Amino acid sequence: MRENGYNTTGSSGTGRIVLNRRPPQDGRERRRENTMALRTLRILGEDDLLRKKSKPVPAMTGRLRTLLKDMADTMYEAGGVGIAAPQVGVLKRMFLIDVGEGVKIFVNPEIVALEGSQTGSEGCLSVPGKHATVTRAEKVTVRAFDENMEPFTLEAEGFFARAIQHEYDHLDGILYVDKKEGPLLDNEADEEEEETDATDAD
Ligand SMILES: [Zn+2]
Repeated sequence: MRENGYNTTGSSGTGRIVLNRRPPQDGRERRRENTMALRTLRILGEDDLLRKKSKPVPAMTGRLRTLLKDMADTMYEAGGVGIAAPQVGVLKRMFLIDVGEGVKIFVNPEIVALEGSQTGSEGCLSVPGKHATVTRAEKVTVRAFDENMEPFTLEAEGFFARAIQHEYDHLDGILYVDKKEGPLLDNEADEEEEETDATDAD
């Protein structure tokens, strides 16, 4: 998910490394620690995969751990606060979120309770440059597994709860544009209005 008006700071000019494309060795993809690897974000309207239902993760594997790390890199690079596996072309029930308190991984998530409601602006890395108003539950209780397949239950509210509901929808092929109230708006129109303090625009 991309929060409208969320700006990345310090992501430019940091000498980032893009895509480790060394050939596989001994049948395994070898990578250095701390190498940033970006996956291609799937864009709504260009890719039917975003509309498909993802499958449960039967077991954590090295390949899936790599995928989770790449998803985080891709999310941070794009200035997002959440990303789901289908957004990088993998139909697995996994997403991760960082609303400013570090990355939280959700594998095979189940939403077990929704409470209240909140109406606010929402964007998506798969719908670049756009946002719209969406009403979501104010509080959510989710059961999921972490990257070690340890189960946990988490209660979230506010923006974190919004992000969980947004990312969960991706696993069922649902995008926020299906739930929007009113028009899909252009981010640039807002940014021009806020030009006086838009010093960190990416
Ligand atoms: Zn999204």
